[in-house]
Amino acid sequence: MPQEFWQGTNLPKVGGFNRAVVLDAIRANGGVSRVELARTTGLTAQTMSNIVRALMDDGLVIEDGHAPSTGGKRRVMLRVVPDAYSSVGLHLDPERITGVLLDLDGRVRLRSQRRVPPGASPEAVVGALARTFHHLVQRSGIDGGRVLGAGLAVPGPLDRTHRRLFGPPNLPGWTEVALADLLEDRTGLPVVMDNDATAAAIGERWAGGADRAGSFVYVYVGTGVGIGVVLGDQVYRGTSSNAGEVGHVPGAGKECTCGKRGCLEAYCSMRAVVAEWAAAGGAADGSVSAAYQRICREAADGDDGAVKILRVAANRLGQTLAKVVSVLDVDRVVLGGPALRHAGELIRARVGKVLTAQVWAPHVRPVRVQAALIGEDAGAVGAACLVLDHAYSPRLATLLGG
Ligand SMILES: [Zn+2]
Repeated sequence: MPQEFWQGTNLPKVGGFNRAVVLDAIRANGGVSRVELARTTGLTAQTMSNIVRALMDDGLVIEDGHAPSTGGKRRVMLRVVPDAYSSVGLHLDPERITGVLLDLDGRVRLRSQRRVPPGASPEAVVGALARTFHHLVQRSGIDGGRVLGAGLAVPGPLDRTHRRLFGPPNLPGWTEVALADLLEDRTGLPVVMDNDATAAAIGERWAGGADRAGSFVYVYVGTGVGIGVVLGDQVYRGTSSNAGEVGHVPGAGKECTCGKRGCLEAYCSMRAVVAEWAAAGGAADGSVSAAYQRICREAADGDDGAVKILRVAANRLGQTLAKVVSVLDVDRVVLGGPALRHAGELIRARVGKVLTAQVWAPHVRPVRVQAALIGEDAGAVGAACLVLDHAYSPRLATLLGG
């Protein structure tokens, strides 16, 4: 649930904005009284009362139960109506598309996954994204008019302003693709697009509540490697919405899929780990994901070769994170994405050790390393959360009169 409260305004011409602020605040708390709402949003009791009435008239909010008594009159609790609207989140990973359908409360109602064949064209991928979207909406049985739109999480680099994807290293042959517009044509609904690691960080922020308040660096390792940065409860996107692309900062070392050398992705991505394993004589048949999972199982069973390969990946990740954490002065790193989920404690412990050894001033700011709350669906869940956020969702903004 989002905790990043916007402050409302009591000026008369911004009713739509206020309604969105109030809806966010009710959703964030999973149940809240009018008195608490006025306190968190800074709105007057009268303004608050009018807004809540309008949200109730539109079926977005209901009165449901009472807050525990504190001696005086028990306060009526307000809650969001989860089924009032839904959003779809789609994560385009170069190897697979993951889709989720979220209710207005931010809960995952349905998920769907399909493979992206190697070398797939942009047209084929847009078709697969659209089919995933329609499949989820049809399976849910909800009226299409109650779907607010789709969020799309993509590997960078991207131009978020112009809604384009620019030749991602793991999608060979793709140049400039207006992915969000193409998907809008196929779904007939607004599509918002963001970097996948940033989207995953947003998903983690929503799901985590107080556990993900403040500042943290979210690391996504799967087919690619990226980080999402949350500073003071706000996601940081950078000037071009490409903040956190640590996967392809070159240096000395192995050749990377991007054409440069020494990138983190050449050591940490699932593909890189599988390639190391194969080079050492390990069996690496089947998909990259299946082979990677096998390596993780071997490591868990004590296979020295598998442990060593994962340790090298974790060391590289830890070294990069030590720089990021030192520069940003954050005290929490969240490890997410399929690679880190499968590798589990081995990588978490190693990254923690490297961070403690290399981060600037660990005695002033000890850094915690935590496993992500959302599993491999993090990118898709985060993308769907974008649609539920009035700041990015044109349809929700219109609905709220903004
Ligand atoms: Zn690279």
